[in-house]
Amino acid sequence: MSNRENRSDKLAIIPRDQHKISRKSISEAALKVLYRLDKSGYRACLVGGGVRDILLDKQPKDFDIATDATPEQLRELFRNSRIIGRRFRLVHIRFGREIIEVATFRGHSEDSPKNELSTEGRILRDNTFGDIEDDAIRRDFTANALYYDISDYSLLDYANGLEDIESRILRMIGDATTRYQEDPVRMLRAIRFAAKLDFEIEESASEAIFECGSLLANIPAARLFDELVKLFHSGNASRVFELLRHYKLLAYLVPALEEWINDDPDESMLDFIDQALVNTDIRVNSQQHVSPAFIFAVLLWPVVHQQANKIQPDKTKAIPALNEAGSDVISRQVKHIAIPRRYSQMSRDIWSAQPRFFRTNGKYPLRLINYPSFRAAYDFMCIQSLVGLVPKKTCEWWTEFQTRHQPTESRPPHRSNKPPPRRRRRSRNAT
Ligand code: ATP
Ligand code: MG
Repeated sequence: MSNRENRSDKLAIIPRDQHKISRKSISEAALKVLYRLDKSGYRACLVGGGVRDILLDKQPKDFDIATDATPEQLRELFRNSRIIGRRFRLVHIRFGREIIEVATFRGHSEDSPKNELSTEGRILRDNTFGDIEDDAIRRDFTANALYYDISDYSLLDYANGLEDIESRILRMIGDATTRYQEDPVRMLRAIRFAAKLDFEIEESASEAIFECGSLLANIPAARLFDELVKLFHSGNASRVFELLRHYKLLAYLVPALEEWINDDPDESMLDFIDQALVNTDIRVNSQQHVSPAFIFAVLLWPVVHQQANKIQPDKTKAIPALNEAGSDVISRQVKHIAIPRRYSQMSRDIWSAQPRFFRTNGKYPLRLINYPSFRAAYDFMCIQSLVGLVPKKTCEWWTEFQTRHQPTESRPPHRSNKPPPRRRRRSRNAT
């Protein structure tokens, strides 16, 4: 069935007094955009996660707007805006730190020269504009296709999304296999929403993931990095990991880990991954800082650890072995997921700090506390101690040590009225 045939003929319009979207739950910036569009004679609706999350009594992560104004018209209307994306052109309107994403209604694209399909049916470009109904059936899940119309505050439901939200079902609009072929990232989105919203993926959309998983191999590595960060920083990373394993998708995202799992894995390492993801979830849900570097350090640790042991079984010489294994594992991983260098370097720092936590004599501890990414490496070590990979007393020793010592203590103090000494350049040979 094509999306076109699936075109809804049962639009439900829910008037303002019969649904719970109120302007109070929408950010001021999003309201400004909606009103300015409306006043300028365009259609303007809040759509996607903003509407869905308010209906679920959750705080929306961001607000997405759909309109019949073209990207160029939007550029004219909002000075603080820029057009982004090639595959799917969008306009970002900036208000301080908040960005409102505005998309022009997409139309049916089958024969349009403005759209491109790959040989596997993947949409490489989707920039044909259409009306709101065309737009609704081009969205991924029914729960994501509800529109809050600013002109009369009604809620427009073209795909039976309200009922699915009430039954907590994630249902693909149209034929799931076709929709995954058009954009395989929709499989990762299904997992993210199922985990984050505690929804069940409807059966045909769930079955089709097993069939289409390998299509993820064709997705650019940079887009997969963005999606992976969204998955693991969703606040439900532990569940996300379970679902990725269930749907056999790790093979396309972190293949070295998948191989390690298939090769009789050490249960305590799997427990470590789970504990570390639970810890990340707690941090995300309490608005603490999290880094993609920590996630990759966790997911690749079993492989790096095993490989380093093979290179050098003598634990006292573990650091160079970890550096060598770390570099090798990262260089294989970045072929699948483009991890920016600043993060992959931090993952390596976390790994190579691990043996250093066992040196608690002399100057070593003060040196380590000033080590790049010390806090992340310390958390990583303590999580290992929770599952028996590191002695509990090591975590306790370092926790206590930090009550007495702060970073920078090992650096020489600057004399008060002298300028700080110029840093000597390291000679090339030393690196
Ligand atoms: P959140 O912002 O909470 O992660 P969201 O549903 O708002 O979730 P966005 O990525 O912000 O997700 O996208 C906004 C909307 O755009 C979605 O709700 C969906 O309707 C549509 N959309 C986004 N990505 C796709 C896609 N790959 N295929 C089809 N529709 C999509
Ligand atoms: Mg959104």
